[in-house]
Amino acid sequence: MSIRVLSPEVASRIAAGEVVERPASAVKELVENSLDAGADEIRVEVREGGRRLVRVVDNGVGIPASEAALAFERHATSKLRSADDLEHIATLGFRGEALASIASVAQVTLLTRHVDEAVGSQLRVEGGHLKSQEAKGAPPGTVVTVENLFYNVPARLKFLRQPATESGHIVDVVQRFAMAFPERRFSLVSDSRLVFQSTGSGRLHDVLVKVWGLDVGRQLVPVGMADADEGVGRAGSAESIRVTGYTGLPTLSRSNRNHILFFLNRRLIQDRSLAFAVTEAYRNRLMVGRYPVAVLMIDLDPELVDVNVHPAKAEVRFREERAVFRAVQKAVHATLAEHSPVPEVRSEGLSWSMPGWAERRQTLLAAGQSQQPALDLSRPPTGPVWPPPPAAARPSSQPEPATTSPPPPSDPAPPVGDSAASDANHPIPQSSNVLPLLRVVGQMGATYIVAEGPEGMYLVDQHAAHERILFEQMLGQQAAGAVAQQALLEPLAFEAGSGYAGLLAEYSAALAGAGFDLEPFGGDAWLVRAVPAVYSRVDPRRALEETLEGIADGRDLVGESKEAALVAVICKRAAIKGGQTLSLEEMRQLVRQLEACRDPGSCPHGRPTMLVLSRMQLEKEFGRRGS
Ligand code: ADP
Ligand code: MG
Repeated sequence: MSIRVLSPEVASRIAAGEVVERPASAVKELVENSLDAGADEIRVEVREGGRRLVRVVDNGVGIPASEAALAFERHATSKLRSADDLEHIATLGFRGEALASIASVAQVTLLTRHVDEAVGSQLRVEGGHLKSQEAKGAPPGTVVTVENLFYNVPARLKFLRQPATESGHIVDVVQRFAMAFPERRFSLVSDSRLVFQSTGSGRLHDVLVKVWGLDVGRQLVPVGMADADEGVGRAGSAESIRVTGYTGLPTLSRSNRNHILFFLNRRLIQDRSLAFAVTEAYRNRLMVGRYPVAVLMIDLDPELVDVNVHPAKAEVRFREERAVFRAVQKAVHATLAEHSPVPEVRSEGLSWSMPGWAERRQTLLAAGQSQQPALDLSRPPTGPVWPPPPAAARPSSQPEPATTSPPPPSDPAPPVGDSAASDANHPIPQSSNVLPLLRVVGQMGATYIVAEGPEGMYLVDQHAAHERILFEQMLGQQAAGAVAQQALLEPLAFEAGSGYAGLLAEYSAALAGAGFDLEPFGGDAWLVRAVPAVYSRVDPRRALEETLEGIADGRDLVGESKEAALVAVICKRAAIKGGQTLSLEEMRQLVRQLEACRDPGSCPHGRPTMLVLSRMQLEKEFGRRGS
């Protein structure tokens, strides 16, 4: 083969591969342009993981009509004039390649209006060729729509992962911009669903709470003068390196380094040596194999750093690498010394249960009836307090409190007698946390267990009841330090897509504490070796997926601790469902187990597990009693 110069078209597609590796890279480049244009409101919209559509809408300065077409030319930029400018780059973009690259591998529509012009312009570029340009009315700002990315590069298309995985990467990109620019408002809509939004409050901490939740937010402490209006970080060194941001208390740890993020002059950078500086500061504070959470903003004179060493600008070169390393280490060290003076090793396995449960229980108590006494969850299980009476001895005619021994005086008496009869159906009062022995009569609608008890007829919601049973069982196992597991015959390779990758990493310790045996398997993949025993009848992949879904759903529940919510999520999914026919024996077992619960009257989410139709009410309804 003879040597030939590549046609511009081929050359540009090769170059595009460096800049636009996947939909998330297009999002990154377009958002950078919006930021460089001074936008403070940036909306990202994607479909099918960005493969079908990526759209970035901004309220920046826009592009003058006369320059709009130029924006798509390779090495066309408004941000550099001369090679000298490369020495002090203050904008995110400067290579003049992004729009050209994206347009060479997709169908792009640019709608833009410069602030100083009365009308906007719309351009259509396909596979690098300008197809049309026309004047069009538009608000000031720019909308770039990228459709069918890689439609003309089948090889690249093949390398794209599931839409869910690609949108997970996009979520990461947008969230990281939101961290770097807390004073600007970002939103991300994926397949018509708002998946992320920052407030634009200017406070980094607000963004971190949006991204990782309140529970993590509470365990992050400011480094330097993070979120102060003004001022020089105390970590600022002679070299005028400023390090601010947030770093986690030693109670907060992760199984990998993915939650250690650095922004250099607001640009996300990857730097192993800096990550090492941070983990070093946590030495003796975290267990081996655990890594801290930290988001650090490094600000220094742009002349002291070369950002032009990587096509996607993900890596940089510091002129004074040692100084930056020292500044980061010093800043984190000082923060930790102040906030946790005693170095301590904490096991997440130990600290997980108690504070979480206390919190969860408070929520439940507040949500339930107001005057119920606090239930002591640390009390040993009492088991069924009702010795099974011989059938003949069952109280059958007197409407009496169904207790063989009177309740202690401090317990509010369960509503019985006439006062109780005034409501036809009332939830079992949660204060009577002892369930009388019930005789199972049958099943109704494959959903409710019909039972007879001393108070009358009981309708037990089989799903809610099972949820409660599993919940208390897992709670007990956790307290005993051994959650029952079901080992898989063969480990399952699990691809965590759709933002679940981050979720899984974040929750890996909590999941382990709940009985999942997970092991990172490179990229977004995990090996599942065991699942909680409560899931033994469920397909393990579904078990994990549903658990993650549940976490994602319940993520924003205020006041919920992560660990408590996780167990509730698992039990909800592992419990038998309504609509499932049960044998008499299965129903009996279920009711027996419910009787053994400490708080049988409600499911972990606070909904009642049963209703009772009192004997008296029945007698009234059938006219056996004068009213
Ligand atoms: P670079 O950002 O490196 O300059 P790009 O190819 O990303 O190169 O963009 C080319 C030019 O198009 C930019 O320099 C800028 O002038 C203009 N441009 C692109 N996107 C926007 C936008 N959202 N708002 C205003 N101008 C933009
Ligand atoms: Mg750019």
